[in-house]
Amino acid sequence: MAQNYYQKEAETMPYEQIRALQSEKLVKQVKHVYENVPYYRDLMDKKGVKPEDIKGVDDLHKLPFLTKADLREAYPYGLLAKPLSDCVRIQSTSGTTGKRVVAFYTQNDIDMWEECCARAIVAVGGTKEDVCQVCYGYGLFTGGPGLNGGSHKVGCLTLPMSSGNTERQIQFMMDLKSNILCCTPSYAAYIGETLKEMGYKPEDNHLKAGIFGAEPWTEEMRRDIEKSLGIKAYDIYGLTEISGPGVSFECQAQNGMHINEDHFIAEIIDPETGEVLPEGEKGELVFTCIDKEAFPMMRYRTRDICVLSREQCSCGRTFVRMRKPMGRSDDMLIIRGVNVFPSQIETVLIQKGYSSNYLIEVDRVNNNDTLDVLVEMNPEHFSDTVKDIEKRERDLADAMRTMLGIGPKVHLVAPKSIQRSEGKAVRVIDKRKLHD
Ligand code: ADP
Ligand code: ZN
Repeated sequence: MAQNYYQKEAETMPYEQIRALQSEKLVKQVKHVYENVPYYRDLMDKKGVKPEDIKGVDDLHKLPFLTKADLREAYPYGLLAKPLSDCVRIQSTSGTTGKRVVAFYTQNDIDMWEECCARAIVAVGGTKEDVCQVCYGYGLFTGGPGLNGGSHKVGCLTLPMSSGNTERQIQFMMDLKSNILCCTPSYAAYIGETLKEMGYKPEDNHLKAGIFGAEPWTEEMRRDIEKSLGIKAYDIYGLTEISGPGVSFECQAQNGMHINEDHFIAEIIDPETGEVLPEGEKGELVFTCIDKEAFPMMRYRTRDICVLSREQCSCGRTFVRMRKPMGRSDDMLIIRGVNVFPSQIETVLIQKGYSSNYLIEVDRVNNNDTLDVLVEMNPEHFSDTVKDIEKRERDLADAMRTMLGIGPKVHLVAPKSIQRSEGKAVRVIDKRKLHD
């Protein structure tokens, strides 16, 4: 397959060269941060590290971590490394796991971020001939602005739809012949479902690829979306603190996301001890921004759990790949002492032929954790007898018990009764927190 790159020289740079470039940028960045961010200088001083101790990537582990708690403590300006008059943009996290944090960008920061998104679009086959429909939310959330900027850089005809109003999305997608769709995977699934209800077949649209991210999704869900939209579905990852979408992106090999290593250094650490783990081991992803000017996070702990791989990729890119994060360490539910990720439940559901419309309810009754999973019936099962439905519920509960190690109670509910998501889907209601 012909490979296209947006910035070939950077994207295919030999590993030793990337490492040397990272070292050079890191040394400068540490100095910049030490001199301009008193909050981080204090952390370095407390750890007894001086900028001159950092001579390259091998010394990275000496630097202190930053966490979301630091961002909240330093809110709003405490981690700013440039005068506000040099900043041109503020974005904010979507607040999935608590109080929002804000991030600042200079014009160079915006350009770098948009270039990362452009790399992602070109990697899935996007060109200036394409119509790129962006239905991530616009505004403070980074999804819309990031992909919008990337699409402009590639020269695509950009449709800045933002999220919501699904029928209008579909009307424009058809009338204006969109080729590339950018949104959350849960919204892509909803668009696919709506297209079908409107009587369209997957081959009726002009889409060739989708760039879906901002939330965890399973391989099973990928295949489902590919079928319903008749496209290839690619993953994209990012977080506001580090810039936004495009920190890493999938290529046509669909086998993990390449991290833009000329701008970000990735490490995997043991979330308990903070120790750096060797390549290939599963742990918490940590990023250091070596190009950002206004908001340069150093060793920022993402809480996303994943694995890195330097195995050669068939696309020719040399950037390290990260496996799909299957949820953050704080998405993990501990139910009756057992670790449960919502993605495990999603895998079972889709393998068994159900959709990705589900809701997990956790509660505590008489000091015992309960796990209930609400799953939408497929329309063809709606007329089943009560006995048939109970059998299906038992069957699903058994499969989940095998996967999770604990048994949930499964409730099949009417088609379309679980609320659809236009942005990041909410899949878990943990009522135990109310009793604490
Ligand atoms: P918030 O932390 O409020 O959700 P962001 O909107 O910046 O703020 O979201 C970043 C987070 O979204 C990441 O840390 C990660 O947990 C999740 N995320 C982003 N892209 C993906 C992806 N492709 N797969 C799984 N999770 C993702
Ligand atoms: Zn690749």
